[in-house]
Amino acid sequence: MSMFRAPKGTFDVLPPESGQWRTAHRVFEELAVQFGYGLALTPLFEDTDVFSRGVGGDTEVVEKQMYTFTDRGGRSVTLRPEATASVVRAAIQSGGVSTRLKASYWGPMFRYERPQKGRYRQFYQGGVEYLGSSSPEADVEVIEFGYRYLERMAVPDVEVRVNTIGDTADRERYSDVLRAYLHERYDHLSSDARKRVTTNPMRVLDSKVDADVVRDAPTPGQYLGKAAEDHFAAVRTGLESLAIPYTVDPKLVRGLDYYNRTVWEYVPLSYDAAQSSVGGGGRYDGLFELLGGKPTPAVGLAMGVDRILLASRPSGTSLELDAFVVVAEDTLRSEARQLVSDLRRSGIRVDMNDEPRSVKAQFKESDRRGAAHAVVVGDEWSHGDVTVKDLRTGEQRQIQVKEIETWLRA
Ligand code: ATP
Ligand code: MG
Repeated sequence: MSMFRAPKGTFDVLPPESGQWRTAHRVFEELAVQFGYGLALTPLFEDTDVFSRGVGGDTEVVEKQMYTFTDRGGRSVTLRPEATASVVRAAIQSGGVSTRLKASYWGPMFRYERPQKGRYRQFYQGGVEYLGSSSPEADVEVIEFGYRYLERMAVPDVEVRVNTIGDTADRERYSDVLRAYLHERYDHLSSDARKRVTTNPMRVLDSKVDADVVRDAPTPGQYLGKAAEDHFAAVRTGLESLAIPYTVDPKLVRGLDYYNRTVWEYVPLSYDAAQSSVGGGGRYDGLFELLGGKPTPAVGLAMGVDRILLASRPSGTSLELDAFVVVAEDTLRSEARQLVSDLRRSGIRVDMNDEPRSVKAQFKESDRRGAAHAVVVGDEWSHGDVTVKDLRTGEQRQIQVKEIETWLRA
C-alpha cells in the first residue's frame, strides 16, 4: 500500500520537537492572562461571506487563498484564513460589545498559498482583539503585547513598523491621488494591481511584485485628517513612554481590507526570509458595521507562530520532565509506580519506563526525554531512601523519599 503523507503545505509536529510549540502556546496564554485577555473560541469554518465581506473582496486572501467548499447542506463555507472576522462575528452574534471586550485566540488558519519556508497552507496564529475602545492607548497596549511576546519567545532584532492609513474620508482623498499616480504608470503594473487601481488602489502598496512601481508613490500619511493625525501622534508617544522601539513605515498598509488608522508589523531583521513579518495588527473601527453589527471601535493583532519559531533563538534545550524514575531493582516496580503517581499528583512532571530495562538504558532514556533529574529506586529504598542525580551537573546524592519533592523543585 502506498504511504499517506500530510497534504501539501501542511506538516506534523511530534515529540520532542513539539515541545517548543507547547512552550509557544503556554507563553502566549500566560501573556494573554497577564494583559487581561479572556479566551475566544470560534469555529474553524464560517459562512464564506464572513470572510469575503469581513476581510475584503479584493484582498489576496479572499481572491486567491481561501479554502472554500460547499457542504452537504449546500452552504458555502470557508476554513478560516484568519480569526478577526470570526471573533467580531461572534461578538455581534452575542449581542454586541457594550463597554469593552478583550479576547484572545490561538489555533490553525488556512490559506491556499505556494508553500515555502515560513509559508504554509495550514499555519498557526495567536492573536488578541481589543473590542470597544477607540483610545490610542488600546493600540499601544496591543502593539506592546506582540512586542513582549516576541521578547519572551527570544526572537532577536525585532523591528516594529508602524503607520497610519487614516479614516475613511482621508482614505478616499488619498485614494484619488494614488489612483491618478497609478494610472500614469498603468503599463508597468501587474495584472492584479491594474484591477485594483479602480476598486482599491491602496492595496497596490501591499503588492510585493509592484514594489518598484510604487516606490515614490504618495503615502496615506500625507492625507490625514486632524483626528487621525492626533491619534497617531498619541500612539507614538505611548510607544515611546514604554520604551518600545519602532520605525514609521509610510507605505505600510497591510494585507486585509478592514483596517483604519494604526497598522503595524513586527519584522525580525536577522530572520533569513528578510522583510517577512512574524506578526501584525491594526485598528479596524469599521469591521463591526461591515459584518452587520453596531459601530464599535476595535484594534487587534495576529502573531505567526510558525515564523516566530523559525526566527527564535531558544536558550538551550528545554526540560520536558522534572524527573525520570529509574528502577534499579525490578522487585521495586510497583513501589516506583506508586512514587511516580504520588509525584504527579503533587504537580511534578515525571515519567518512567513501563518495561523492565537495564539501569543504563533507563538513564539513556532520561536524557532523551529531557529530564532534569533521574530518581533511582534501588537497594536504598529499604531505608526509605532514593538516589537523585542532577542530569545537568552530574551531581548525585542519596536522599529520603519524603525529600524528593523539595529536591526536585529546588
Ligand atoms: P505575508 O505578507 O507574509 O503573506 P500577511 O500579511 O498575509 O503575511 P497576516 O494576514 O497579517 O499576514 O497574518 C499575520 C501573521 O501570520 C504574519 O505576520 C505571518 O507571521 C503569519 N502568516 C500569514 N500567512 C502565513 C502562512 N501562509 N504561513 C505561515 N505564516 C503565515
Ligand atoms: Mg499573505
